[in-house]
Amino acid sequence: MSSKSQTRYVPPKLRDFSPSALDKAAEKLLAALEKEWQAVANESDWRSFRDHWMARKDGVLTQINELWLKAAPKDAKREVGQRVNEIKKRVEDSAQRGENGYKAGAKARIADSDSVDISLPGLRRPIGAEHPIIKTRNETPSVFRNLGYSVEEGPVIETDYYNFEALNFPPNHPARDTQDTLFVANQEAKPQRERLMLRTHTSPVQIRAMERMKPPIRIVIPGKVHRNDPPDASHSPMFHQIEGLAVDTSITFGDLKGTLDHAMKALFGSSVKTHFRPSFFPFTEPSAEVMVSCFICGGSGKRGSDPCRPCKQTGWIEILGCGMVDPNVFEFVKHNGYDPKKVSGFAFGMGVDRIAILKYGVDDIQLFFQGDVRFLEQFG
Ligand SMILES: [Zn+2]
Repeated sequence: MSSKSQTRYVPPKLRDFSPSALDKAAEKLLAALEKEWQAVANESDWRSFRDHWMARKDGVLTQINELWLKAAPKDAKREVGQRVNEIKKRVEDSAQRGENGYKAGAKARIADSDSVDISLPGLRRPIGAEHPIIKTRNETPSVFRNLGYSVEEGPVIETDYYNFEALNFPPNHPARDTQDTLFVANQEAKPQRERLMLRTHTSPVQIRAMERMKPPIRIVIPGKVHRNDPPDASHSPMFHQIEGLAVDTSITFGDLKGTLDHAMKALFGSSVKTHFRPSFFPFTEPSAEVMVSCFICGGSGKRGSDPCRPCKQTGWIEILGCGMVDPNVFEFVKHNGYDPKKVSGFAFGMGVDRIAILKYGVDDIQLFFQGDVRFLEQFG
């Protein structure tokens, strides 16, 4: 090297042998190789370069053979071996280029470095994949799009009016307590309906859509929501919902049942059965919970001789809440054509994360949001 003080590349010990980590390590090494080769100006530089990279006893190639290939776990050996071979060829080529290069002078070296050897193998770039939550979130709208629904979105920071009041949660109504809300600080000076919070459900978008669009309306609303739930295996303060709304002049509970039965079969397989059980939501009347027959054990409650955990051995899984839109909700958008005496409609909503947990057999919701590549790679 032209200067002995220049720091030379030392291969690191590898701990992570995933393809993306290997690519990163190989990239670093090759960048260092190129830099050191560029600095070769005369014969002694070239010898030093060659020894540093290729010396049998402690050259970089020997070291990565020890630190990378021999240290790799059995199932990563192939991936590591592939990269070590690529690197070996690049080092040998560089040493060769260096020998020819310094002899021919700087000009030749530059010209040589500009040429591309198309016979060299390329570096494998890892291909990304859809996050299981995004994937699940996208599957549902596509089912409803085929039924003529369009996708609507709305703000995550919402006012009390849209999140509660217009959805028939009057101020101080106990139903508000069921949604542990994260409020934006310092809003006390404002009138209650203007105070800001992180939306606790995607339902405010129903009101926003009805304010903008006259009936008939058919929409699905995917989105992120927040509640003051301490994180554990089945709770997260941030999670995802998807909900739908259909309003027209003569929509009945029969339409609701038919639509959801079709959607559940499209999402979970044509053999699932649906079961509607009475429930309560402030913004629908009557309201129901929809159970689907367990798509993991086929409704038997058993997996072989073991109990089926996802359905708690009942053979049924609760998937959504739904109901006919409460006339009180239409009163808030009456001015835009939603006269509760003339229109009717239904709404439904479900948790995206919960469905992803069931579909992919994940036992901890936190895994979805920790960004650990080892977890996410399983869905690639
Ligand atoms: Zn089951």
